[in-house]
Amino acid sequence: MEVGRRTPGTVPAPRSGTGARAADARLRTAWEDLSREIERCRNCPLGFVRQHAVVYRGGLSPRVVFIGEAPGAEEDRRGVPFVGRSGRELDRAVARLGLPPESFGVLNLLKCRPPANRFDRHAARACRPYLDRQLELLRPQLVVTLGAHALHALDPAAPPMLRAAGRPRTLERWVHFPLVHPAATLRSRALRQRWDEDVGALADWLAGRGP
Ligand code: URA
Repeated sequence: MEVGRRTPGTVPAPRSGTGARAADARLRTAWEDLSREIERCRNCPLGFVRQHAVVYRGGLSPRVVFIGEAPGAEEDRRGVPFVGRSGRELDRAVARLGLPPESFGVLNLLKCRPPANRFDRHAARACRPYLDRQLELLRPQLVVTLGAHALHALDPAAPPMLRAAGRPRTLERWVHFPLVHPAATLRSRALRQRWDEDVGALADWLAGRGP
């Protein structure tokens, strides 16, 4: 099951057995209910100025979930996460990791675009339960945080971004792998190099844990 607002994905052949099919159907229903709730959300002021809430793109049983900070202008316009310049950078990394479309997903801490793309902590607090509920349904093997806001929202005790990036960290419920934000690679040659190295380390981590 691959989903993405305004970019409906494919529905894969059901896993064998009636029980598995029923579990798939329950997951899809719970996911659609949650997505509708997010799309209607007005729990913070950003809900009144967005064009679209930006929920998710990817498979419904992903191996890896990438968590960004907040939608930008293009994402707000299209209602899909990471479809602008940093999204193209992220997609190149995903291709390098060899992850097929069904096996990864992309979402953000904030579901609505903050004006002037300024990260909004109040909105992040209001949005947080949605992130937790999304992860609870998706249950990925690995969460990859993109940038410092996502890193410290998920793991407040983590060291600063550049000390944490490129190495897996274990939380109570999730293993996560911090990367710098792909937008940073567009601004700095040093951060591009760091991104490339850390994506290589992530590829090694994934290869060491089977498909
Ligand atoms: N940056 C993000 O953090 N998320 C997006 O969806 C786009 C850019």
